[in-house]
Amino acid sequence: MSDAQTPPVNVILLGPPGVGKGTQAQILVENRGMVQLSTGDMLREAKKSGTEMGNRVAEVMARGELVTDEIVIGLIEEKLTTVKADGFIFDGFPRTLAQADALADLLKKTGQRLGVVIEMQVDDEILVQRIVGRAEQAKAAGQPVRADDNEESLKFRLMEYYKKTSPLIGYYHAKGDLKSVDAMGGIEEIATKLDEIVEQAKAA
Ligand code: AMP
Repeated sequence: MSDAQTPPVNVILLGPPGVGKGTQAQILVENRGMVQLSTGDMLREAKKSGTEMGNRVAEVMARGELVTDEIVIGLIEEKLTTVKADGFIFDGFPRTLAQADALADLLKKTGQRLGVVIEMQVDDEILVQRIVGRAEQAKAAGQPVRADDNEESLKFRLMEYYKKTSPLIGYYHAKGDLKSVDAMGGIEEIATKLDEIVEQAKAA
């Protein structure tokens, strides 16, 4: 737990779809008691609600496009102003420069600091294999397959990533907040690297 001298560290996991952000976020939740904020999960929940907004979001997500900044910023604002945590892990947010600016404002407004941005790097080939594997695993286990876990949506999601999200790498690098890790190894190996980075950010 953090004490009064060391305010909680908030962490952004940045990287293309399928790189393992969700998996690593869950490990940080288990090991460190941090709170995961996944806009993808929140949007999938909204989708289930069957409201008009939920249905619109579902169509956009199925195509692999990004949902509007306004919607996702609203979702994150609600969490940041209502949930108390010993550090948040932002998983899949921010995805645009406008979202990054909005997050900086929200953290300031709620008296919090951004600890570190961790860029997870992986080959595109591996991504396709992971995502196709995720869909096959889910199918084999009789679980629902994500509507956007198919090759066509994946291509679109990757394109969205390179066009709209990858500029954030330069943005956070320029701010001095970026750490990059090779995310090609095993889950445990990557988790160890991430844990070290979070520990360093706590001490900073
Ligand atoms: P994810 O679970 O993070 O892969 O997100 C699944 C889908 O939700 C994305 O392909 C987008 O359609 C949408 N989404 C999730 N997070 C965001 C975000 N921060 N901004 C815009 N769209 C998002």
